[in-house]
Amino acid sequence: MSAASPPVKNRQLFIDGQWCDSASGKRLAVENPATEETIAEVSSGTRADCARAVAAAAEAMKSWMKSTPYDRAKVLKKTADLMRERADALARTMTMEQGKPVPEAKAEILHSADTFEWFAEEGKRAYGQVIPPTNPAKRHLTLKHPVGVVGAIGPWNFPVTLQARKIAPALAAGCTIVCKPASQTPLSLIGVFECLIDAGLPKGVANLVIGPAGEIADEFMGNEAVRKISFTGSTAVGKHLMRQAADHVKRLSLELGGHAPFVVFPDADPEVVAKAAVLGKFRNNGQVCISPSRFFVHADVRKRFTEVAVEEAKKLKLGNGLDDGVVVGPMFERKAMENTAALIQDATAKGAKCLTGGGRSKTFDKGYFFEPTVLSGLTPDAKILTEEPFAPVMPVLDFSKIDDVIAAANNTKYGLAAYVFTNDLSVAWRMAEGVEAGIIGVNDPVPATPQCPFGGMKESGMGRELAHEGLEAYLETKYVSLMLR
Ligand code: NAP
Repeated sequence: MSAASPPVKNRQLFIDGQWCDSASGKRLAVENPATEETIAEVSSGTRADCARAVAAAAEAMKSWMKSTPYDRAKVLKKTADLMRERADALARTMTMEQGKPVPEAKAEILHSADTFEWFAEEGKRAYGQVIPPTNPAKRHLTLKHPVGVVGAIGPWNFPVTLQARKIAPALAAGCTIVCKPASQTPLSLIGVFECLIDAGLPKGVANLVIGPAGEIADEFMGNEAVRKISFTGSTAVGKHLMRQAADHVKRLSLELGGHAPFVVFPDADPEVVAKAAVLGKFRNNGQVCISPSRFFVHADVRKRFTEVAVEEAKKLKLGNGLDDGVVVGPMFERKAMENTAALIQDATAKGAKCLTGGGRSKTFDKGYFFEPTVLSGLTPDAKILTEEPFAPVMPVLDFSKIDDVIAAANNTKYGLAAYVFTNDLSVAWRMAEGVEAGIIGVNDPVPATPQCPFGGMKESGMGRELAHEGLEAYLETKYVSLMLR
């Protein structure tokens, strides 16, 4: 298999059961962030293509919503099986367009396959209720009804997982969908569509429109057939969509930015936790919505934690994600690298010390390789403590009292994830109750799993993906009241 050519071969939009070119004939280039080379050109759709996809999804909805969850489960389960069979090719494709090392990409494919399989089963549990009446002549019940055609918009950092969290529950619930991937990472989602098609997807049930975000989102918003938009991406775009959605009272699920605190108490082993922290932080170069990004380490263990974190960060093998043994790939794009350098520069100008890393790696002539960085001695006004960094930077801060660290952890507009390391159950419980975050990992740096809810508080979003809540997000509750004769 040539390193220059991604294994997933299709390069078109998928509308109404057909691979097709955009109405405009336009194409967009996909770049490999490790080499800065164009690795593919894909069809770039227009608003008219999106309208056609929505019309196909609306037509397909008529029969898909009437199929049983058991029939829908067959397509989803088979999709999961095919993704597992094709995991190597899908992972290499993802590495080439996104940068993350192949083992990380493969883990993403397998997690996404599990998501398809889990929702295949959960769709069978879209139960309504029978509710006791106050009037003896009446009977009350609720039914679950698919919300309708869904517009799904996802980002580049997990190009398959974050679409799987929308496609699988939407289809399981009886909805149909039009997916818009991030423009720079369409290829691995094309590979997932190939699995859906080979799994027996009926025409129009899932459609793929790659292209300019604004045009496609405007069609989702303006088209009455689209009943719900599910968005994962930045808080800024999420707010923009909320404003637009208000004009149409369009259902909206939002999975937005984060700025997760990672809190280490003195009873935790600082060496073990520092190793877990480094793996958690530098996974996908910190370009993860639940990436730990403010490390509050108790003053009694901060010195040892920091020493080990620096040693471990220095050991991480940086390189092209296709190469064996690479643990950290390139950052996703030049702009991301420049933003990271600016955040470090701001922190150090205000007094922080850079203990390792700090800039673009000089080892590579091409590619967006950034050295894993550890900072200490940050002042409270350092921008990296308030702006979502999305970067391979570990800012280490210290604390001594639990109430102070809860206040510091909550001192952000975000509330997506938080991590707590302690062996004291009371401390763990007080943290879980006190920290404002939708996901709390206690001694667990990787908490996401298909059967548990994923989503944020505050400006990190609205609603939850995964788990039963993730299915409910695609269902309306209809209340039926029956008067007996
Ligand atoms: P982004 O700029 O908001 O882009 C995300 C998606 O939105 C892309 O498909 C993009 O399309 C599209 N988009 C851009 N402008 C739009 C507009 N005006 N209307 C509608 N869609 C628009 O975010 P990003 O920088 O790619 O992703 C990183 C952000 O996502 C971070 O803040 C991260 O925390 C967040 N995130 C959240 C979660 C979660 O589950 N909470 C998971 C992962 C990432 P184009 O690519 O075509 O511009």
